Amino acid sequence: MKEIILIKDGELALKGLNRSTFEDMLVKNIRWRIKPFGAFDFKKSQSTVIVTPRNDEADMDSAVDEISRVFGIAGYSRAAVTDKNMDKILEVAPIYLKDQLLEAKTFKVNAKRSDKKFPLKSPEISATLGGKLLECFPHLRVDVKNPDIIVTVEIRDEAYIRGNQLKGAGGMPCGSSGRGLILISGGIDSPVAAYMMAKRGIELVGIHFASPPYTSLRAEEKVHDLLSKVARYSGRIRLYTVPFTEIQELIRENCPEEYFTIIMRRFMMRLSNMLAHNTDCHALITGESVAQVASQTMLALGCTDAVAEFPVFRPCIGMDKEEIIKISRKIDTFEISIQPFEDCCTVFTPKHPKTRPQLPDVVEAEKSLDIEGLCNRAYEGIKQILITADGVENA
Ligand code: ATP
Ligand code: MG
Repeated sequence: MKEIILIKDGELALKGLNRSTFEDMLVKNIRWRIKPFGAFDFKKSQSTVIVTPRNDEADMDSAVDEISRVFGIAGYSRAAVTDKNMDKILEVAPIYLKDQLLEAKTFKVNAKRSDKKFPLKSPEISATLGGKLLECFPHLRVDVKNPDIIVTVEIRDEAYIRGNQLKGAGGMPCGSSGRGLILISGGIDSPVAAYMMAKRGIELVGIHFASPPYTSLRAEEKVHDLLSKVARYSGRIRLYTVPFTEIQELIRENCPEEYFTIIMRRFMMRLSNMLAHNTDCHALITGESVAQVASQTMLALGCTDAVAEFPVFRPCIGMDKEEIIKISRKIDTFEISIQPFEDCCTVFTPKHPKTRPQLPDVVEAEKSLDIEGLCNRAYEGIKQILITADGVENA
């Protein structure tokens, strides 16, 4: 039986004149994402993208599973394709929708006739098919208000038969909002932040600060594993790993202990600025949440932001840990995040960090450091890799 995938645009409908650019981007993303699962053709028609496999070799189950995680999609469904012929429709529908109909108690048929030359009108199609389904599945009842399953028949170039539409990942097509740089640690929050901003159409570039030997290779691999999970939604992510040991050691040797963390975070921001400029990113993204730790009080965040040259997006800012964990479970990063490996934030942590740091005091506290030289040296040591849903693509 010939089968296709029907995809409904998400919020794209709101975008007026930009709409077709957004749709093109969505199609491009879907095309790229399901490429491993076979050869497909794409057609746009009335806020629907029709995906047709070119031959029987296409892996439709995997393609549909992938599509469920592509942003910019409100809903999707698989549909059987038949000739535009009522007998054929009556023959195919009960077979194609058998499993769904057996599970349902109530149903209705919804017919859409784009081809006005089709001999039956929409209500006639609905009534005829409805009768046939009641005959084949005597346990079913018709419920036009709140049915368990809506059987939709669309008469276009051919006839499409489908059951309920499934909910898509929502959001905007990745890349439609430009690029952003995610500061990714091994923790719970930053992968969630990455996912949330990718959902708003931001293509992700990653930056991670590593402080060997205080942090291990396993800690870096953990970050790869986390981003690989995020990449299932966002598409592939280029990750830049910055050697951060010298900076941390010099902070420890030269700055007052209570300012260690805030000064370190300002270095993270400066290096992120440099990378963002060079990778065409227009925002920095972090997993910070107000009051979670000392460096995330309003005043501390202000001191961090004072050196940022881009807007800093913190999608978790108003969320409780529990809410963040709920999302991390959904995107399957939680179990990875809780593996115990040292992050550079957890080495040299002060016993009594300043929770209400004043910017002039912070500037004074870091004054003895050669900020530019340190940043340039760290930047020169950056290593990059490409991370996909399948893991690390190249070293
Ligand atoms: P997370 O769970 O994301 O690690 P957190 O609550 O542990 O967050 P911090 O460790 O203070 O908070 O880090 C705050 C944010 O700073 C992180 O969400 C992340 O965006 C960024 N960050 C922390 N450590 C690193 C790192 N080693 N490399 C890159 N970014 C980092
Ligand atoms: Mg952390």
